[in-house]
Amino acid sequence: MLEKEVKSTCSYCGVGCGVVVRKNARNRVEVEGDKDHPVNKGMLCSKGMNLHYVVNDTSDRLLYPEMRWSRSHPRERVSWDEALDRAAGVFRSIIEKHGPDSVGFYVSGQCLTEEYYIANKLVKGFIGTNNIDTNSRLCMSSAVVGYKKTFGEDIVPGNYEDIELADTFLIAGANPAWCHPILFRRLENHKQKNPDVKIIVVDPRKTDSAAIADLHLQILPGTDVYLYNAIGRYLLKKGYVDKNFIKNHTEGFREFREAVQAVSFSKAAEICGITIGDIKEAAMMIGRSGGFMSFWAMGLNQSIIGSEKNYALLNLSLVTGQVGKPGCGPFSLTGQPNAMGGREVGGMANLLAVHKDLANPGHREEVASFWGVEKINPEPGYTATEMIDALEDGKLKAIWIICTNPMVSLPNSKKAEAALKKARFVVVQDISGNSDTIEHADLVLPAAGWLEKEGTMTNSERRISYLPKYIHPPGEARPDVDILCDFAQRMGFGGFNYGNTPEIYEEYAQMTKGTHIDISYLNYDRLKNEGTFQWPVSEYRHPGTPRLFQDKKFYTPSQKAVFNIPKVTNPGFLQKEPDYPLVLTTGRVRDQWHTMTKTGKVARLKTHYPDPVLEINMVDAYLKGIRNGDVTEVTSKYGQVRLRAKITENIREGVVFIPMHWGKKLKSDLNRTNNLTSGIVDPISKEPDFKYTAVRINKY
Ligand code: SF4
Repeated sequence: MLEKEVKSTCSYCGVGCGVVVRKNARNRVEVEGDKDHPVNKGMLCSKGMNLHYVVNDTSDRLLYPEMRWSRSHPRERVSWDEALDRAAGVFRSIIEKHGPDSVGFYVSGQCLTEEYYIANKLVKGFIGTNNIDTNSRLCMSSAVVGYKKTFGEDIVPGNYEDIELADTFLIAGANPAWCHPILFRRLENHKQKNPDVKIIVVDPRKTDSAAIADLHLQILPGTDVYLYNAIGRYLLKKGYVDKNFIKNHTEGFREFREAVQAVSFSKAAEICGITIGDIKEAAMMIGRSGGFMSFWAMGLNQSIIGSEKNYALLNLSLVTGQVGKPGCGPFSLTGQPNAMGGREVGGMANLLAVHKDLANPGHREEVASFWGVEKINPEPGYTATEMIDALEDGKLKAIWIICTNPMVSLPNSKKAEAALKKARFVVVQDISGNSDTIEHADLVLPAAGWLEKEGTMTNSERRISYLPKYIHPPGEARPDVDILCDFAQRMGFGGFNYGNTPEIYEEYAQMTKGTHIDISYLNYDRLKNEGTFQWPVSEYRHPGTPRLFQDKKFYTPSQKAVFNIPKVTNPGFLQKEPDYPLVLTTGRVRDQWHTMTKTGKVARLKTHYPDPVLEINMVDAYLKGIRNGDVTEVTSKYGQVRLRAKITENIREGVVFIPMHWGKKLKSDLNRTNNLTSGIVDPISKEPDFKYTAVRINKY
C-alpha cells in the first residue's frame, strides 16, 4: 500500500533539496519544496519545481525489455527471462573466453546508493574485474584527487550552514546561479542581509553568478593554477596566513612557499589575462576574511590539469587555516544527486567501497572478506574514456550502461560512437527512449525511475536522505537493484539473494562500520522518521556530523593536511594551434540537465534557452563577419557542429561557449557539442577536459 503523501529528494543536482510529493484529484503527481528540509527550506529551482511533469509524462518511457540477435536484426520485445538469460549467457561466454577484464559497466551519479553498491559488488567482487566506472568521472574525479591528497580521504569538510557563517566566498569555475540554484539563493540571501560579505567569481564568462560578485576575475581558460598561486604569494607577502595552523596541522608548506614565489605577480597577471590589482584585491578579501569558503565545479575539474587546479585552490584554505571550523572550508559542488553516494560505495574504477583503496592489499582483503569472495583484482579498471579506447581496440567486448547517456555526454562523440559499434554486446538499462545510446544497444532493459523505487542518496554536504517508492513503474520497468541482482543470480553468483532494498542498505551500512564514513547506526527507520543525516553516524542515536576535522586531525598518515604543489600549471596553451585559434569551453544552461532525457520533456523548461547556440565575443564575430543569429560552423580536430551565433559581451575575446545538453535524438548530430571535444584526460584523475578545446569558427 503506497502512502498518500511522501517526502523525497530532488533527483537532479547535488544540492539535494527536499520535496513533498502528493497526488491531486486527477491522480497526477504534484511536487513542492519541503519547508522543513534543512537544505532548501521549501525553495525549489525551475528544474525541481517541474519534476512532476517528468514523472507524469510517461510517453518516452521504456516499457519492456528489447533484444536483437544480431546487428542486422531489429530489436524486438522479449520477456525479462529471455533478456537476462541472454545477458548472463553472453557475459559468461565472453568472460570464459577472454577473462573478466573483457567486460565493463558504465554507471551514473543518478543511481541510488543501493544500486551503486550492488553494481560494484557484482563487478569488483564477483565478476572479478574493476571495469566499472561512472559518469561522475566526467564531473568530479579531479576533486576526489584533491581531497584525498590534501586531507587523506575524499571528504567534504563542511556543510551548507557554513554559508550563513562565512564572510568571503571564492566561486571558481562554477555557475551555481544556474547549476546549483538553491545553494546560490542561500548565498544571495546571506549577502543581502550582510552587505559586507564578499564574493569573488573566477570564470572566463560573465555568468549570473558573476553578476553578484564584488570581484569577477575573468581569467583565460586553463590559467587557474597561476591565479591561485599568485593569490597565495600575496597572502604570504602580507602576512595573511595562519602560522599556528600551518605549523601544527599541515605539511609541505616550505614547498608551497617556494612554488608560489616562482612566478612574479606581473607574469601571473599576464598569463591569466587579468591585472595585478585583481590578484591583490582577491588576496586581500581572502586574507582579511573571518570565514573563507571556496566553491568549485567543472571549470576546475574538467581539465587536463584538473587535479593540479584542485591542489592550488585547496592550498588557499590551508595557508589561511580556513578549514575544520564553522563558516569556512573548501567545498566541491557535485553536479549529480548521488555523485557523493557513488564515491562512498567505490563507484569508480580505481576505488573500493567505504573509501578503501584498491592499491592497498589490506583494504582489498577486507572488502573481499566482507563479500565472501576469494580476492579483489588489484588492477584498476578502465575509466570512462578508457572504456571507449578499450572497446575500440577490442580489449573490452561487452559493456553494460546504466542510467546514463554517453553518446551525448562523453567527449569526442564520434570516437565513442565508433567504439560502441565495435562492441560485441551492448546493454543499455535506462528509463527513457530518448537516450541516444539506445541506438547502439543489443539489449535494452527498462528501469524504474524517481518515485518508482526506494533507496538512498547523499548530497554534496554528506547528507543522506531516504527516497521512498510512491508510484508503480510503467509497463514492465523494474528497479535497477532488482535487475542487477537477478542478473547476478543467473550468472551463478551467491550473495545477491536479497529480500528487499533495505537489506542491501543494511549490508552496505554494516560495511562502513569503523570507517570515516560510518553509517552503521543509521537505518531506514531513522531516515524515514527523523529525516536526513550527515555522515558519519557512528553510534546509537548519533545525530550526524555537520562538520569534520574540528579537532584538526586529518586522515593522512601524519594526521596533517598536505600542501600539494601543482607540477603542470598550464598545458592548455600547448594545445593551441594556428588552424584552431579559439578556445571552446562547454557547460550547462539554467533549465536543462545533462542530456535532457528528463528536462527536455518539459515545455516550460525550453523557453529560457530553446536551442543550443554558440556564444561568441563581438570582436571574434566581427573578424569572421558573423552577425547575431547567423549559422556558424565550429570545427575542431575531432569533429564539427553547426549552431546559430549569439554575440555577447559576456565572454572574453578568444573564447567561445556551447552548452553540453543537446544530442542527436532531441536535436541533431550537428548540434552535439561533444563532436568537438578531445577526450584528453587529466593523467591523475582521468577526468576529461571539456573546458579547453581548440576550434575554428566560420559563417556557414
Ligand atoms: Fe533540485 Fe538542485 Fe534545483 Fe535543488 S537546486 S531543486 S536539488 S535541481
